[in-house]
Amino acid sequence: MICTLLSLFSLFLRKICDHEERTFLLIKPDAVQRGLVGQIIKKFEQKGFKLIGMKFMLASKELVKNHYSYLSNEPFFPGLLKYMSSGPVVPMVWEGPNVVKNARIIIGITNPEDCIPGTIRGDFSIQTGPNLIHGADGVEEANKEMYLWFTQKELISWKPAITTWVYE
Ligand code: ADP
Repeated sequence: MICTLLSLFSLFLRKICDHEERTFLLIKPDAVQRGLVGQIIKKFEQKGFKLIGMKFMLASKELVKNHYSYLSNEPFFPGLLKYMSSGPVVPMVWEGPNVVKNARIIIGITNPEDCIPGTIRGDFSIQTGPNLIHGADGVEEANKEMYLWFTQKELISWKPAITTWVYE
């Protein structure tokens, strides 16, 4: 009896935790310049994910260097720094079940040439460099990245009235 109750409780906790997964997304300068911010945000809103943090800002080379530190030995790194700090960007945090994986599917893979239609990169971009949006690659990366761009206070916990119509 106790075991059943404990396993039910852990299932309940896992369900709650799943729903609270968060990801970090960054609309890049090319998307801002091309007026695609609204269309990109719409994809995640329509899917049913919840926006909990957003800014419109210029990113310093230092911040971009930190964000993309795992690519620092790549030959394209200097160009990436220049591109990412060349104009305004829109960092965002979204919440929902499996949002990290799902957001990457909505975005499409790194090279737009190989992206399927319907994905952001597949529909709106051509080359690997200016590919419109970044999405964290895992839960751990998402947590690290969101606190590079946001403080805890800038992330808003709220419950949309429609949530129970989107997922249980
Ligand atoms: P993703 O953005 O799909 O997670 P990566 O983390 O591998 O991909 O790369 C980060 C970003 O660096 C890419 O989105 C792209 O803007 C840029 N980039 C990656 N590979 C190249 C490349 N070969 N040439 C130019 N830019 C690149």
